[in-house]
Amino acid sequence: MMTVAAVLAQARSRFSDAGLGDAAIEARLLIGGLLRLSPTEIFTGGDRVLTGDEVATIEAAIERRLHREPVHRILGSREFFGMDLLISRETLEPRPDTEVLVEAIVPQLQHIVEAKGSARILDLGTGTGAIVLALLKANAGATGIGTDISDDALATAQRNAERQGVGDRFSAVRSHWFDAITGRFDIIVSNPPYIRSDVIPDLDPEVREFDPLAALDGGPDGLAPYRDIATDAARFLEPGGWVGLEIGFDQKTAVTDIFVAAGFILAQARRDYGGNDRVLVFKPGNR
Ligand code: GLN
Repeated sequence: MMTVAAVLAQARSRFSDAGLGDAAIEARLLIGGLLRLSPTEIFTGGDRVLTGDEVATIEAAIERRLHREPVHRILGSREFFGMDLLISRETLEPRPDTEVLVEAIVPQLQHIVEAKGSARILDLGTGTGAIVLALLKANAGATGIGTDISDDALATAQRNAERQGVGDRFSAVRSHWFDAITGRFDIIVSNPPYIRSDVIPDLDPEVREFDPLAALDGGPDGLAPYRDIATDAARFLEPGGWVGLEIGFDQKTAVTDIFVAAGFILAQARRDYGGNDRVLVFKPGNR
């Protein structure tokens, strides 16, 4: 007879023996997520005896975590900006650092909607849809397009939009950056791949083996996607529009130089929760 408390203790000790940091937290997240128990319920309900199926499901999930698959990828979803977002094979797992980009853009979005009555958002390389869906939820006057080169990601983003009740204001479009995009936007956002190719082998296995390479690899200097975006962004911006980007911790100067060379001005720079430069917001230089 296995109880909730027993599987929890077992998962914790196996994670800790395997050298995973935060073994207790990970065990709680994983088992609580699988059994749909809140952080409180997992303790108050510790005596409950699990069914054979539940034990088998938990055992399989523990094995996956021991093979370094991240907890939220095993569970299939992760919280981002108050939304429970589905994750799939070709989507980057949404990270708290990316919420900083949403926070930087929400006030600009609000000003635009107040002034014009509506706003159009373009999210390049949308993945789960995290950024654009958070913005759509933050402002009912906004509509958005999420692009991706992955059909798997586009399907996940569309499902997430529907689950979040903003499916009628969102479209998922297959496009490499701006290639299949027409029209103009008030807000262009992106968390593009920005890791230098030669650094990829040194990433944690959780990232290297489970986040999609296409969402991580920014080319030899990690900046290729920023050059692609900077080259075309002005043609796709409405007057008064903004470009908001997530960047790597050491890319503030390089990305600023790329956008300044393309005629933009740096309007805002923000750090993430770890104190690293993480978000830049640009506007066209001619206003
Ligand atoms: N933030 C991710 C990481 O640290 C990288 C995401 C990206 O390249 N856009 O691995």
